[in-house]
Amino acid sequence: MADSSLSVLSELGFRYDPSNLYQQVATQVLNSSALLGLPRHLQIILAQPKNEIMVHYPVRMDDGTYRLFKGYRVQHNNLLGPYKGGIRYHQDVSLDDVKTLALLMTMKCALVRLPFGGGKGGVQVDPRKLSEDELMRMTRRFISALGDNIGPSYDIPAPDVGTNAKIMGWMADTYINITGRIQRRDGVAVVTGKPLPFGGSEGREKATGQGLVYVVEVLLPELGIQLDSMTYSVIGFGNVGSWTARLLQERGSTLKTVIDHTGAIRNDNGIDAEKLAAYVAKTGGVYGYAEADAISEDAFYKTEVDVMVPAALEQMVDGTKAKIINAKVLAEGANAPNTPDGDRILEERGIQVLPAILCNAGGVTVSYFEWKQNRQAERWAAADIDDELRRYMHAAADRVKQMARKHKCDMRTAAFSTALEHIGEVYAIRGIFP
Ligand code: GLU
Repeated sequence: MADSSLSVLSELGFRYDPSNLYQQVATQVLNSSALLGLPRHLQIILAQPKNEIMVHYPVRMDDGTYRLFKGYRVQHNNLLGPYKGGIRYHQDVSLDDVKTLALLMTMKCALVRLPFGGGKGGVQVDPRKLSEDELMRMTRRFISALGDNIGPSYDIPAPDVGTNAKIMGWMADTYINITGRIQRRDGVAVVTGKPLPFGGSEGREKATGQGLVYVVEVLLPELGIQLDSMTYSVIGFGNVGSWTARLLQERGSTLKTVIDHTGAIRNDNGIDAEKLAAYVAKTGGVYGYAEADAISEDAFYKTEVDVMVPAALEQMVDGTKAKIINAKVLAEGANAPNTPDGDRILEERGIQVLPAILCNAGGVTVSYFEWKQNRQAERWAAADIDDELRRYMHAAADRVKQMARKHKCDMRTAAFSTALEHIGEVYAIRGIFP
């Protein structure tokens, strides 16, 4: 199986590099394709994105100087519908990252059966180092540089690491302005995750965390873990980490430890996720939070919990950390949080991994609801969004469970296979043009 993945990548001209994130994730997808017996030409198509757009654009800074920014939009696949996926602002964004995340979006949307393909974007910038005005000009100029590479029926961005509803609002406004009359009505659907009064959806901000909770409420009881009595830890306390923590707390779970870029904290009697979220919103990190003890990174990973939720960047859990993690289950909130070494060691140690394309698909699912509301000029109630999200997440979790049973494989392979089965089915119907 691994040999056939290697031969696909080599046919496409990749120089073998096991430390390259894109090759790692593409290999996982290709291994799952081989398991399903997906035709080789489809494996070849899926191993590369359709379009890789790179733009350089100047922005005037507050001090009157000009800075050139590098932005990406990778459109991986649009078989099932318009490209869909977030835009990330981070100083370390690279083309390979964006390609990886775009591929994962194709898988995520197919797994949940959304009528979307996969895409991802990014700008190499630390947004915390820009003033609000600079951030706005930088965002607007990026959207104008992308021009008609995005559109409500073609490619629909959303928030990701370092971006938020306010930025999505600027993006939609810029797009509507540059497309003039043509998109006066539908233009607002060009991005999702917008502020509520400007075409945003109820429940979008918490959606990824909410989706994760709906997934684990299906999968954990079978592993002997009950939400109302379990303990958990969280890596990263941004949108995904903090919402997951708050929503698990509502179910009666106990948050024991948190780590982020500022430090690690622990309280065996439980950290109040609501209070911590308010603290982090003010200070930018968990460091210095008074109602928990500061601990080392090592101590964080060694603390015994039922469930650990990595919700930070990619590749946080490497081999060294996987060796000391003291959890029964890893529920992946972040995309691709484990290195291949990390994955292998977790498996050897019998730690169950619930894969990201399932666990964090709630974000894009509520994005789909937002897009639908925009296109139908409707507004759905918060309770209806929650009900509909629960339905989608439960169905996706059940599909993955059945696939894992059928092929006696791990959940990650099962999740990719569930997505690929749908993609293979639609390719078989549509064929390859002409
Ligand atoms: N950035 C999120 C993700 O990785 C959401 C994408 C979307 O809503 O389109 O799934």
